[in-house]
Amino acid sequence: MANLIDGKRIAAEINAETAGAVAELGCRHGVQPGLAVVLVGQNPASQVYVNMKAKRTLELGMYSEKHELPADTGQTELLALIDKLNCDPKIHGILVQSPPPPQIDERQVVLAIDPGKDVDCFHPFNVGKMLIGDQDGFFPCTPYGVMVLMQRCGIDPSGRHAVIAGRSNIVGKPMMALLMQKAAGANATVTVCHSRTPDIREHCLRADILVAAIGKPEFIGGDMVKPGAVVIDVGINRIEDAAAKRGYRLVGDVAFEQVEKKASWITPVPGGVGPMTIAMLLQNTLKACRASCSPD
Ligand code: NAP
Repeated sequence: MANLIDGKRIAAEINAETAGAVAELGCRHGVQPGLAVVLVGQNPASQVYVNMKAKRTLELGMYSEKHELPADTGQTELLALIDKLNCDPKIHGILVQSPPPPQIDERQVVLAIDPGKDVDCFHPFNVGKMLIGDQDGFFPCTPYGVMVLMQRCGIDPSGRHAVIAGRSNIVGKPMMALLMQKAAGANATVTVCHSRTPDIREHCLRADILVAAIGKPEFIGGDMVKPGAVVIDVGINRIEDAAAKRGYRLVGDVAFEQVEKKASWITPVPGGVGPMTIAMLLQNTLKACRASCSPD
């Protein structure tokens, strides 16, 4: 039976470290990291995410700003707010919750954020830095969280074959970049699969480390996993469940009950990768603050 990668516990550890560093920055340098979250429209799932991020920011002793704009906000108005936040010394990280309403050009929004405040790591400047192995920029929160989960469980990807199912800009592609880096805690040989990959099962079966990020409930079955593999489930999917209080429950992209019998390590859903995303966002905000005030 696989060992459980307890993302909830590890995220709590990271958050405690972040809170300690925030307090120290305040005492020694009189600065407080600040994160601005921007939400355009009333998408209920986005509202939940934005509220969680703002709440955790405050809990860790950071300064938090939440900007909730009406659904008909225009591009010019949103860019003006980003401009203001770029110039605001209280703000070290800016996050515009995705997806925005259709009148907003998300690419322009990403480009408008000061790369030094781009704590989501969506700006091409930071994406490029990550790809070339520059440690000065930011890493995208979810794949960064996966790397830290492995590191804290003593799982070294070096020399191992990692297979990633999914090639999105938010998860799959940066996951590939981080795993293949010539750096401690990386050095994996990486295969990336997607919807046009024939025989995805054959690829998955060759994985020492399998990262599932496709958004298909319980897609990865026990017959797709090599005995002893490390299985990281990034997926978060709602499936109907009449027995559940809310009428649905969350499952990952991995059929947990089948796969835990074959894997050496596995992340649960919920409580695996999910809690790491906000923890790494706030680590990035701390990093942005440190870089902006260059304390010794
Ligand atoms: P996405 O943008 O929809 O990308 C899905 C990827 O999976 C695409 O590359 C797609 O291939 C590939 N794919 C879809 N069906 C496939 C199939 N049958 N076989 C092989 N590949 C297939 O999704 P995402 O944003 O990366 O998110 C993936 C999952 O992770 C979702 O469940 C999402 O909710 C979850 N997520 C969780 C967190 C977290 O904090 N834990 C953060 C982000 C996302 P094509 O490129 O060919 O279309």
